[in-house]
Amino acid sequence: MNTHRSLVPTRTRSLLDRRRILKGAALTAVPYSLLPDARAGATAQPVDYRAAQWQPAADANYTVSERPGDHAIDLVVIHVTQTTFAQALDIFRNPKKRVSAHYVVRSGDGQVAQCVRESDIAWHAGNWEYNTRSVGIEHEGWVDRPAYFTDALYERSARLTASVCERYGIPKDRAHIIGHHEVPGTDHTDPGPSWDWARYLKLVDSA
Ligand SMILES: [Zn+2]
Repeated sequence: MNTHRSLVPTRTRSLLDRRRILKGAALTAVPYSLLPDARAGATAQPVDYRAAQWQPAADANYTVSERPGDHAIDLVVIHVTQTTFAQALDIFRNPKKRVSAHYVVRSGDGQVAQCVRESDIAWHAGNWEYNTRSVGIEHEGWVDRPAYFTDALYERSARLTASVCERYGIPKDRAHIIGHHEVPGTDHTDPGPSWDWARYLKLVDSA
C-alpha cells in the first residue's frame, strides 16, 4: 500500500471524469434498495474473480480504464497491507486516501475482496506505468509479522494470481509476479523478507 498520488494527464482525467458522471447518472435510475451496501460484506456486484467478494474502492481512488484494450496487463504486484483487512478496505473506500488495490486477501481464512475492476487502473504501485500494466494484490499483515502469512492466505492468493495470469497470458514467474519493493522508484519494502516466494510461485504454478 502507499499514498503516492498517480499522475494522470489532465485531458485523460477530464474524459474519465465525464465517464464517471455518466456512470453516476446511470446509477440514479437504480432503485435504492438494489444499490450495494459497501459495508454489508458480499454483494451481487460483478467480480473478475469468482471467489472474490465485491468491496468497492471509492471512485476517486483509481482510474477508469478499459484494460487490457488500452493497456496490456503483464504484471501482478504483491503487497502487504501493514494494517488489518477491514482497515485496508476502509482506506480504499475513503476518497481522500487516493490509494487502492484490485484485491485484498484476508489472513485468517484467505477470503478475497475485490475493490477495483481489473479493467480499471488501481493506485497501488506508486509508479504510474506499473499501475497501468499490473493487477495489485494486498495481503493482510505486516512485513515483520510472518504469522499473518497463513497457509490459507498463500493458497487462496496463489489461486487468484494463477487466475489473473491465465486470463491475461502472464507467465507465472518472478519476472511477472513481483513484490512492491521491486517497482522502480518505490520506497516500500513489502511484501518483505518473510514472504516465501518459492512457496508462493510453486502454489501459483500448481493452482
Ligand atoms: Zn505495497
